Amino acid sequence: MISVEEALAKILGYVEVLGEEESPILDCLGQVLAEDVYSSISVPPLDNSAMDGYAVNSGDTRGANEKSPRFLRVIDTVAAGSISGREVEPGTAVRIMTGAPLPKGADSVARFEDTDEASRLKSAAEIGILEEVAAGCNIRRAGEDIAQGKVVLSKGVVISPSEVGVLASLGRSTVKVIRRPRVAILATGDELVSLGEPLPVGKIYNSNSYSVAALVKHYGGIPKILGIARDNEDSLVAGLSRGLDADMLITSGGVSVGDYDVVKDVLAKQGEIAFWTVRMKPGKPLAFGTIRGVGRAGTVRNIPHLGLPGNPVSSMLTFELFVRPAILKMMGKKSLSRPTVDAVIEDTVVNSDSRRIFARAVVKKRGGQYFARLTGPQGSGILTSMSLANGLAIIPEDKTRVAAGETVQVMMLDWGGFKA
Ligand code: AMP
Ligand code: MG
Repeated sequence: MISVEEALAKILGYVEVLGEEESPILDCLGQVLAEDVYSSISVPPLDNSAMDGYAVNSGDTRGANEKSPRFLRVIDTVAAGSISGREVEPGTAVRIMTGAPLPKGADSVARFEDTDEASRLKSAAEIGILEEVAAGCNIRRAGEDIAQGKVVLSKGVVISPSEVGVLASLGRSTVKVIRRPRVAILATGDELVSLGEPLPVGKIYNSNSYSVAALVKHYGGIPKILGIARDNEDSLVAGLSRGLDADMLITSGGVSVGDYDVVKDVLAKQGEIAFWTVRMKPGKPLAFGTIRGVGRAGTVRNIPHLGLPGNPVSSMLTFELFVRPAILKMMGKKSLSRPTVDAVIEDTVVNSDSRRIFARAVVKKRGGQYFARLTGPQGSGILTSMSLANGLAIIPEDKTRVAAGETVQVMMLDWGGFKA
C-alpha cells in the first residue's frame, strides 16, 4: 500500500500537458492560454467622454459656479459611435454622450449635472456651466485600458470571464489554448442498471458514471460515458475498446478483492498496473496504470487509466484527490492542489487501521476560527455525505484517534457556495 503523496506523484509523473487548439473564446473558459495575446488596436481607440455632458475648453469654465455660470455656445451634439466634425473653440461647447470621441479643441467634459441643462429646452443653443472643470476631467484616454502593440494576456493565463471580455474587446473571436482532455468512463458491475430503466430487485442504478462525468466536466475535461461493463473479461475488454481514443480512461468498481473483481486482471493484460491500493479511507482499492490504445495514424499509445473503487463516495473522493490534479496538469494548469484550512473538529474520529481518513465535513467560520463538523455517517456508500460536505477533514494515518476539539487540516471543496 502506498501513501497518498506517492500515489499522486506517480499519476502526475505519468500524465503530460496536452496539445494546443484554436477555440472560440466562449468555449475557452477555464482553459490555459497557449499564446501571448498582443493588441492590434488601442482600447479605447480614441480619447472619449466618460460622462454625458459638454465637451469644453477647461479655460472657459474658470471661476464658474451656480451664482455665476459661464455661458457657452452649443455647436454640435455627438453620440457614442459618431465623430463630431466641429472644433471646440473658446466660448463654444459640444454636447457629448458617454463613449463618444472627444471633439477637436476640447480638453475636458462638464457633466450634465454641472450645467444648467435641466432648466433649458433640450436643443438649447447655449449652455451654462455651473462648476469649474480641470483639463483632462471626465475623459478616457485612448489606450488607457490596452495600448496597441502590447502583450495583453500572457501564455499560461487561465481564461476566466474577465479574459473572455478582454479578448472580445480586442476583437478576437478565437484564441489558442491547451485543449481539454477527453476522458472515457466505464462502470463495471453485474448489479448496475442504466438510468431510465426499471430497477429490478437486487440491482442499483449506475450513479458513478454520472458523478465521475460531472467531475470531469466540472474540472474542464470532456467526459465520454462508455456505459456499463459486466463482471467478466469479455464485457470489460469490449467496454474498454470503446474508449481507446481518449486521453484518460476511468473505470469504477471491480478493483476490490471480491470474486468478481476482474478489472485488475484485464488491466494487467491490456496494459500495465503501476500501483493498486493507497493508504487512505475511503478509497483504498484505487488502481493506476496504463492501457494500450491507438494513437494518430494507428500508432500504439499508452493511455493513463485510473481504476476507481466502486463505492460511490470512494470513487468521487479518489477523483478529487488524484484525477482532478491529473486533469488540471493535462490542461496546462500550474496550481493543482486544493486549499486547506486548520479547523477545530467537532466530532471524535477513530482511525483503526493506520490509513489517512478523509472525513466529509461541513466547515464553518465562527469568531475568526474554522470549525469542521462531520456530515453524519461516513460509510463509503453514503453519497449524500459528499453532497453535504464543503470540505474533507484529514485524519493522519499515524493517529489512532482525533478527539473533538482538536485541530485538523481540512481540504476545502467549496468556498462560498460553489464547489469550485
Ligand atoms: P466494487 O468495487 O465493484 O466491489 O463495488 C463496490 C460497491 O460499489 C458495491 O456496493 C457496488 O454495488 C457499488 N458500485 C460499483 N459501481 C457502481 C456504480 N457505477 N454506481 C453505483 N454504485 C456502484
Ligand atoms: Mg463490482
